[in-house]
Amino acid sequence: MAYSDREKKRAYEREYRKKNRAKFLAKSKKYYEKNKEKIAIKQKAYAKKHRERIKAYKKEYAEKNIEDIAKYKREYYEKHKRLVSEQGKRRYQKHKEKIKAKTKEWREKNPDKVKAYIERNKDKIKKRKRRYYERKAKFVLDYKKDKCCAKCGWNKHTEILQFHHTKGDKSFSVGTAIGNKKNEIIKAEMDKCILLCPNCHFWLHYSKGKMSE
Ligand SMILES: [Zn+2]
Repeated sequence: MAYSDREKKRAYEREYRKKNRAKFLAKSKKYYEKNKEKIAIKQKAYAKKHRERIKAYKKEYAEKNIEDIAKYKREYYEKHKRLVSEQGKRRYQKHKEKIKAKTKEWREKNPDKVKAYIERNKDKIKKRKRRYYERKAKFVLDYKKDKCCAKCGWNKHTEILQFHHTKGDKSFSVGTAIGNKKNEIIKAEMDKCILLCPNCHFWLHYSKGKMSE
């Protein structure tokens, strides 16, 4: 090599790498493919050995670049909204119990932050709750859709058919469970009941001498 100056030599090498980037990448990719398992083991061992150092470094890096990272995350989310949300859902399903426990622990440790978050997102939370409730209510309405009063056969407006427990095995009343129970639990309870139109339901209780379900 004709370069005697160290700086020049370095610049030349840099330039060379840049020019042949594809070649270098292909080479390292090939190496990686060939030694995948070996590399994974090595990486794992390294991560284990330097756990605290890596953690500290990551923390420091995150603190230093807090705004850049937030911006990048925002941009990435906007670009890949659907993918991110699907990945999140899958991840949640896989680690449900762990995430729930961790969230609970964090909430108990940070009541002020929780309070501030609720205050900040009041409207959003309200909307979310309403959407949740509407979804559940629709589930119950759909269940009633193709049914009729078990006493008189009325099915003009199935939305107002009422659930009546017949076997004395009532766990909860379906109407009040919409907001706080899972669909499958509500479904099991609905399956225990017969459906009655308001008239027949009212008369049934009236004639038995009690007004509550
Ligand atoms: Zn009826």
